[in-house]
Amino acid sequence: AYVRQPLIAGNWKMNMDHVQGITLVQKLAWTLKDHEHNYDRAEVAVFPPFTDIRGVQTLVLGDKLEVVYGAQDLSAQDSGAYTGEISGQFLKKLGCSYVLVGHSERREYHNETNDVIAAKLAAAYRHEVTPMLCVGEGLEVRKAGEHVAFTLNQLAESLEGVSAEQAENLVIAYEPVWAIGTGEVAGPADAQEMCAAIRGALAERFGEEIAEKTQLLYGGSVKAANAAAIMRERDVDGVLVGGASLDAEEFANIVRFEH
Ligand code: PEP
Repeated sequence: AYVRQPLIAGNWKMNMDHVQGITLVQKLAWTLKDHEHNYDRAEVAVFPPFTDIRGVQTLVLGDKLEVVYGAQDLSAQDSGAYTGEISGQFLKKLGCSYVLVGHSERREYHNETNDVIAAKLAAAYRHEVTPMLCVGEGLEVRKAGEHVAFTLNQLAESLEGVSAEQAENLVIAYEPVWAIGTGEVAGPADAQEMCAAIRGALAERFGEEIAEKTQLLYGGSVKAANAAAIMRERDVDGVLVGGASLDAEEFANIVRFEH
């Protein structure tokens, strides 16, 4: 948990228009400024809708806020006749530090397979935006006790084509689908079990050194009340927060987790 820099990420999903988005980032930055704690150590990242990103960029640069931002998705293509798609090069130009790839809602509602996700990871690397790859099992798989094998398979197929050099810039979020937006939280031990398995798989694939450096996040109904216990686990380096990231106070309280 404290071996690597903690990373607290907020996925706004399809919430907050560009005006609300600016207000939320402003509130968050003000709330965090009033407190010292380990804000200095943790990186705070927000993932607004595409239409908010320019506004967030202007605010972050103008007010020198210590918040970074990213997008919730990107196209596997670079440019051209792909109506409605957003290129990684646009995200890079907007100063995005990260891009979510393979969120379970993209997998479920937009039929994103591991192949599509691998192509999106390649696009993120072409444009030098660090991908935050999301993996995790559904309830049936968990009940069958196959969650580790399932998630490691998703990981392996999604990382197809990623080199060790590229993996130096990679964040992985373990998000059990049954815990997303449901109020069900995987226990700290469950988060640790999977993150340790993911780190082991990364070591086999890219070597120990990269595996030890890679930030692994847990996501699924994280709130201020449960974040600290999860992040205390050895292999959990942060959290990816959906619902609770829409409330500046609550999200700031997650950032200020106690050691
Ligand atoms: C998410 O969408 O990444 C997520 C973890 O959502 P929630 O915190 O609302 O469960």
